[in-house]
Amino acid sequence: MKYFILFGPPGAGKGTHAAPLEKEFNLLHISTGELLRKEIAAGTELGKQAAALIEKGDLVPDAVVEGMIANTFAANPDVKGFLLDGFPRTVQQAMDLDEMLESRDERVTGVISLMIPDEEIKTRIQGRAQIEGRADDASDEIIANRIRNYHAKTEPLIEIYKEKGLYFEVDGVGSIDEVQDRVFAAVNKLF
Ligand code: AMP
Repeated sequence: MKYFILFGPPGAGKGTHAAPLEKEFNLLHISTGELLRKEIAAGTELGKQAAALIEKGDLVPDAVVEGMIANTFAANPDVKGFLLDGFPRTVQQAMDLDEMLESRDERVTGVISLMIPDEEIKTRIQGRAQIEGRADDASDEIIANRIRNYHAKTEPLIEIYKEKGLYFEVDGVGSIDEVQDRVFAAVNKLF
């Protein structure tokens, strides 16, 4: 099975590009952010705990997202592979993912990284706020906290995956079609 990681700062376009990738390459898209928003909407205990953190722009505990990932892997044995979006987001999560995959005799296929500058992150999230109405897109302060968390906790993964030869960076600035072509080309090389 293929295990792709769609990587990048908040607002880089991971969600936008996941849908066509899922279709073209017959992968199952797992967005931890989406799964958490579903838990919140359903009013579950997990959702209530996650909401407080998400609304501040903080990360939820590793064990919470890892549980969701493990459940989704287990529930979908027949897909060609998975497209992880928003996970892993910490060094610990990356290590835990490796362990999860090892126990399935599998490994990460490649990390497709959508890169955009910080200034573009803010503009895109502010634009998305108008369309999707996400609570964590609502204020400059929350956006700034998410950008800080990205740099402090998630960005270190770049070096880790580079060392493993699994890191493929795509310029995320441009029209959706332009960026999609770049993303498809990167994924194609890994099939
Ligand atoms: P996203 O939709 O990927 O931007 O995620 C929205 C929010 O969900 C993030 O700002 C975090 O609070 C939380 N979240 C999503 N994925 C993770 C993860 N892998 N680890 C911790 N928190 C996460």
